[in-house]
Amino acid sequence: MPRPIRAVIHLQSLEHNLSVIRQNIGAAKIWSVLKADAYGHGIHRVWRGLKNTDGFAVLDLHEAILLREEGWEGPILLLEGFFQQEDLQVIDQYQLTTSVHSHWQLTAIEQATLHQPLSVYIKLNSGMNRLGFTTEEYVSVVSKLQSMANVKNVTLMSHFANSDIPSGIDQPLQKIMQFDGLHLNTCIANSGAVLWHKNTHYDWVRAGIVLYGASPSGKWSDIEKYNLQAAMSLQSEIIAIHEIQAGESIGYGSKFTTTKPMHIATVACGYADGYPRHAPSGTPVWCNGMRCSLLGAVSMDMLTIDISDCPDAKLGSLVELWGQNIPVDDVAEAAGTIGYELLCALARRVPIDF
Ligand SMILES: *Cc1c(COP(=O)(O)O)cnc(C)c1O
Repeated sequence: MPRPIRAVIHLQSLEHNLSVIRQNIGAAKIWSVLKADAYGHGIHRVWRGLKNTDGFAVLDLHEAILLREEGWEGPILLLEGFFQQEDLQVIDQYQLTTSVHSHWQLTAIEQATLHQPLSVYIKLNSGMNRLGFTTEEYVSVVSKLQSMANVKNVTLMSHFANSDIPSGIDQPLQKIMQFDGLHLNTCIANSGAVLWHKNTHYDWVRAGIVLYGASPSGKWSDIEKYNLQAAMSLQSEIIAIHEIQAGESIGYGSKFTTTKPMHIATVACGYADGYPRHAPSGTPVWCNGMRCSLLGAVSMDMLTIDISDCPDAKLGSLVELWGQNIPVDDVAEAAGTIGYELLCALARRVPIDF
């Protein structure tokens, strides 16, 4: 028997979340973001759950090639564009849309020998200072690209640093709107902007974390009302049960000491599976239909939970570390991170079931 841990991916939840997004964005089209192996969910299977999307956005060429080889004929966007000139041959061969954020990429496109002209997303740095052209140079970059024989059409692309905050997009949006007069197709909204800033939807949105049913702000309570569903359940089982007395300690570093007799259970899931080692005692865990608490330090392969109030829990009882009963955001918040990181960090040793 293999270790009982597994990540169960619910394709219907992905489909459902996509339709929730669609209801929120009017006539805009959706890039479904599949980078980081579909946020840890497994791009290979997940993309089929999202077939009703308008396009897929990825980071690496190999992700784009995988989608084409598996039969996706619609648009594919490379979110960070290409990393070297030779990549343009692959972009041409597989008919990918590329973003462009640096001057060397203009020269590379101009000099490339292509079978057909490209669709490009020209990245505007609207204040995040990570990628993109400045507002001062933007118009000249756009007209340079528009004049190239190797370019078919251009779209304005930008990215928000604070779309999870009510006033978080005001300044960047002002910078972006300076270019409304160019009448370019526009794509600026990430998940936070999809949910909370209708004035950012324009022609295309880029939806990542909301597809997977977690919160762009890191707080589950912020998305609870949208009826999104967790696409991943990380599940394991109880592999040992102990009754311990008051004054005993649990796990490495003896980080938790009982003040009363307790029923505790050992679960086959640890930080080598992607569960956060920093999760403190009290982090919620679902066991046998009840919310229980993590106790003591998370080990590499195991963790311990309090089943004192869960009398039916027994060897082999199902435990959900996160999923439809315990939002990944709640676990992440307890551990001082965000759901994005936990989903993406699911370890390769965890089998994925559909
Ligand atoms: C990852 C990414 C997104 C999706 O972000 P979410 O917050 O997950 O919706 C959108 N745009 C770009 C450029 C990205 O890199």
